[in-house]
Amino acid sequence: MRLHPRTQAAKESIFPKMSALARELGAVNLGQGFPTNPPPPFLLEAVGRALGRYDQYAPPAGLPPLREALAEEFGVVTEAVVVTSGATEALYVLLQSLVGPGEEVVVLEPFFDVYLPDAFLAGGEARLVRLHLTPEGFRLDLAALERALTPRTRVLLLNAPMNPTGLVFREEELRAVAELARRHGLFLISDEVYDELYFGERPRRLREFAPERTFTVGSAGKRLEATGYRVGWIVGPPEFMPTLAGMRQWTSFSAPTPLQAGVAEALRVARGEGYYEALRQSYKRRRDLLAEGLKALGLRVFLPEGTYFLMAELPGLDAFWLVREARVALIPAAAFYLQDPPKDLFRFAFCKTEEELSLALDRLSRVVNSPRET
Ligand SMILES: *Cc1c(COP(=O)(O)O)cnc(C)c1O
Repeated sequence: MRLHPRTQAAKESIFPKMSALARELGAVNLGQGFPTNPPPPFLLEAVGRALGRYDQYAPPAGLPPLREALAEEFGVVTEAVVVTSGATEALYVLLQSLVGPGEEVVVLEPFFDVYLPDAFLAGGEARLVRLHLTPEGFRLDLAALERALTPRTRVLLLNAPMNPTGLVFREEELRAVAELARRHGLFLISDEVYDELYFGERPRRLREFAPERTFTVGSAGKRLEATGYRVGWIVGPPEFMPTLAGMRQWTSFSAPTPLQAGVAEALRVARGEGYYEALRQSYKRRRDLLAEGLKALGLRVFLPEGTYFLMAELPGLDAFWLVREARVALIPAAAFYLQDPPKDLFRFAFCKTEEELSLALDRLSRVVNSPRET
């Protein structure tokens, strides 16, 4: 007996593996991107109130108050919103709905790990377009993006603010991507789970430039620092959304109802009380603490414009050696590349306390540029 070959998608990912190693070895975990800080009290209270009141199935399209809160925020009709079990399910349902055997999804490299298995499980194929690594950081090569298109391309999948690079697209880039998609009749998936986590001007959304073909993916887990709640969403062209809701009947049917109710309330409070402003300030402080600390060690740092991730070089070091010997868990760039990752590059998650970041810097200072045994 054997399982179907498609289960090759089940291979273990480095993210939980590094977290387990970090726990076992007492390492500071700047690997997996989950916040150390607790979620805001207004979320915990809203979820507490929802338990006992919202305990049965929600409609597959989502609990009405949550769809309404999101519709209001995005300036769309309620029918344009479908709630999912995290952005992870949103991406799965989208690729199942947009791509089939022999068809292609263009994905930027470095990529967030779920895009490739999602394309594969839909029977499709991911075509990778590498970002340039310039002295100022990672940039999109629009000509390379256009060259990657074939008659079989159905979707361009973008992520901004981008995990792992922290890149935010410029308005001209978004406009050009939208134009390219229109010219080639492509759908756009814009993974915007870090939409409230940027350090400069508020980034424009891709959907503003091509609302008729763009599906925006979001996550309450990322916005409200509760990655375990598994509430996400898709905002897209209303004509396609009932079908997407219908597709997700066959995955999780509905996201947990009391969490949807709690998130609906919390999203309104967050906006009203300046919660996102405070979140950005707090992350900017931590980003700068980590970046300055790494630069002081003589390391090359790519300062992110958004997200809670930073890429930096640690010449000659290996992630498994680092977690064991330096007791700092990081994710090597190889986790975000199919092949030939840039040398010496690591992703640092700074959604951790300032104490954890300082401890990690202190531990790294002992192994950077100093002779060691392997
Ligand atoms: C965390 C993350 C997701 C998944 O979000 P969930 O809501 O936790 O499922 C999707 N895309 C990116 C880029 C992420 O970093």
